[in-house]
Amino acid sequence: MVTSLRQPRVVIIGAGIAGISAAHTFRQAGLSDVVICEKGTDVGGVWHWNRYPGLTCDVPSQLYQFGFAPKADWSHVWASGEEIRLYHRDVVERCGLDGWLRLGTEVTDAVYDEESATWTLTTAAGETLLADFVVCATGVLHHPHVPDIDGLDSFAGPVVHTARWDPELETGGSRVAVIGSGSTGVQIVSALQPEASRVLHFTRSPQWILWAPMGVRQPELFTALLRRMPGLQRGLYAAALWASGILADVVLKPTWRRRAVQAYARSSLRRQVRDPRLREQLTPDYEPLCKRQVVSSTYYRAITAPNAELVTGPIIEVTPTGIRTGDGVHHEVDVIVLATGFRAHEYMRPMRITGRDGLSLDEAWATGPRAYRMTAIPGFPNLFTVLGPNSPTGSISLQYSAELTSRYVAQWIERWIRGQFDAVEVTDQATEEFAGAVREAMGPTVWNTGCTSWYQTAGGEIDLWPFDRKRMEEMLNRPDGRDFQMMRVDSGGP
Ligand code: NAP
Repeated sequence: MVTSLRQPRVVIIGAGIAGISAAHTFRQAGLSDVVICEKGTDVGGVWHWNRYPGLTCDVPSQLYQFGFAPKADWSHVWASGEEIRLYHRDVVERCGLDGWLRLGTEVTDAVYDEESATWTLTTAAGETLLADFVVCATGVLHHPHVPDIDGLDSFAGPVVHTARWDPELETGGSRVAVIGSGSTGVQIVSALQPEASRVLHFTRSPQWILWAPMGVRQPELFTALLRRMPGLQRGLYAAALWASGILADVVLKPTWRRRAVQAYARSSLRRQVRDPRLREQLTPDYEPLCKRQVVSSTYYRAITAPNAELVTGPIIEVTPTGIRTGDGVHHEVDVIVLATGFRAHEYMRPMRITGRDGLSLDEAWATGPRAYRMTAIPGFPNLFTVLGPNSPTGSISLQYSAELTSRYVAQWIERWIRGQFDAVEVTDQATEEFAGAVREAMGPTVWNTGCTSWYQTAGGEIDLWPFDRKRMEEMLNRPDGRDFQMMRVDSGGP
């Protein structure tokens, strides 16, 4: 616990999974001058913004939760978006973080001053905040990707992106076009098909879809046991983390275990879609698991329903009344749903972040996002990211990664409190070495087997974590001073 030593001013930007993890960790570390700036009207990040019908988490709830805030009574084995949203609100209240939270507060600028080793942050409302440390917890799947399709603006009916769903929108009885076949497209087609008069699913690239019993409830007896025996719940969480190591093994190395999961994906399609022509249209031309794996128990049933149609011809244009495809067919629809994903590599943007020597983040990241061990960026002293570049792990619990990174950052802040430095900055060399190790480890991963996906940056890198959990722990358990420069403001140099 920190008592009489100097207290840092810390600003966390974002109150999603990463921001909540960081805030809780800093509270545990005894920090008291912490502000969480969140531009949304509540906490939760992607789970706050995403509210489309059918939103369900395809990671089991007993794993998709904070290690420090286990919830015994998840209603389902795979929780709904709404239940996860309420969980995040509850965690913030339970952990006493509300007092640090400033909702509706968007940070637009952050500028570092070397003389004082201080960050000055400006909000959209024109307010100024000073910070000794800035923690960017701004998320990955945040900026909706709106495709550049000719005539989209001319459509006479509603056009809605899934990540900004309009709760007033009525799709029952309407002809609905869904564009996009990732996890979101698959979930929303399944949810809208029963009530719509027609659903047309525009699929540029079909996805492999693993069958899992997504609707199954968490048994009440199980909930009662977890409630009565917190030790059991901790053991279950540890077991779930361990089991996710099997997934890491499957995606990282081309072994028989990967081939077994891929065979299961192929058989999920074969067993559920009997029509050979439709099956062929639904068969991807790349390996299962290469894109972010889609999991569903309902999609193949929905797309084979009489009121559903899979449209695989390329979209040429949107007209006021529908969508025209490359085969010349004009598909008349009433509503267009864009399940077209996110601009995933715009971490921290559109904030203008200016570090040492006037270096802007846009300049530093001209060829793509780049950070040491997901968290530190050369040129930006006393600034860390939680769930930053390379953190969409693809196999390791996001919450676990966020908690581990937050504890790592807290250790740097504790060193500052003890007066070991005024400013700390990762070296370019250490960041390059990390990037090199990532590139090498990406080689045998399934993400590198010849598909396109949101994992890939414009520069052709795969923005994921290509190591196992043990390696993540080794890298983040303790800060390695050899990879950083520590500076004092009075001496003005390393
Ligand atoms: P996504 O996986 O990036 O999928 C976007 C879809 O839109 C793709 O099918 C893409 O086709 C298509 N698309 C993009 N631009 C297009 C265009 N101009 N014309 C036609 N099609 C176009 O996005 P997402 O489905 O929103 O999922 C993003 C991530 O969110 C997931 O991978 C997952 O990590 C997360 N997620 C998780 C859950 C969950 O249950 N935990 C649920 C939803 C989302 P191409 O493939 O051809 O590019």
